[in-house]
Amino acid sequence: MSKRTPLIAGNWKMNKTATEGVELVKAISAAVGIDPNVNVVLCPPFTALSAVGAAIEGSHLALGAQNLHDKTNGAFTGEISASMLRDLHVTHVIIGHSERRSIFGEDDAFVNRKVHAALGATLRPILCVGELLAEREANQTMEVVRRQVEKGLEGVPAAKADHVIIAYEPVWAIGTGKTATPAMAQEVHAFIRKLLAQQFGAESAARILILYGGSMKPDNADALLAEQDIDGGLIGGASLEAKSFVELVRSASKSVAG
Ligand code: PEP
Repeated sequence: MSKRTPLIAGNWKMNKTATEGVELVKAISAAVGIDPNVNVVLCPPFTALSAVGAAIEGSHLALGAQNLHDKTNGAFTGEISASMLRDLHVTHVIIGHSERRSIFGEDDAFVNRKVHAALGATLRPILCVGELLAEREANQTMEVVRRQVEKGLEGVPAAKADHVIIAYEPVWAIGTGKTATPAMAQEVHAFIRKLLAQQFGAESAARILILYGGSMKPDNADALLAEQDIDGGLIGGASLEAKSFVELVRSASKSVAG
């Protein structure tokens, strides 16, 4: 059991109109209420941020974005800056999701610039790392995760460590229904915490949230969240319906409540 307050973050990806999003968060908010044992962040598409933000005002839910650009403004058609997100009361932003890396060609250097842009605007980056199936099969998991964590956080000072959140998402488990076993996930989470300790010191590393992502569902969440270094989840598919998402929030709450 972790001493850190767990976080459940919903990554809606390219799903939900603003209207649908408002309906979903109202149902989630009504069911979750105020729960001091768990934090909850919802990451709708950019087009729903404003409406969802208004709908969750005064609730226990926080607002996250799925991406941002590293520049503050200018000729970057179709992109969104950190200050634009702050203006909509966004507090968290997913960075380096495997879909951004693989479909949109984002490399570690770009991911790192985005992390700095987020931190510079007091947004909390949720830095996603994780290996491909071929990399796991070639025993390269730790090497890949080390590179993504070290390069993704390059230049981040210890003073900002508390704002950083990591999501370990084995790419072969995302949206596939295949989940890492709790032991497999814990092994990587513990390794990530060691890397964080090298950069920020053991005390800071002990406070940093490391989420698991990859087909986390109500039927496997309890076992994953019981692991010492798994501090919550980044949830794709199961975040699109209130029932499954709320069950995950309750699992996380229970994991600290005992
Ligand atoms: C994700 O996209 O971050 C994710 C974990 O998706 P899923 O829960 O659907 O595997």
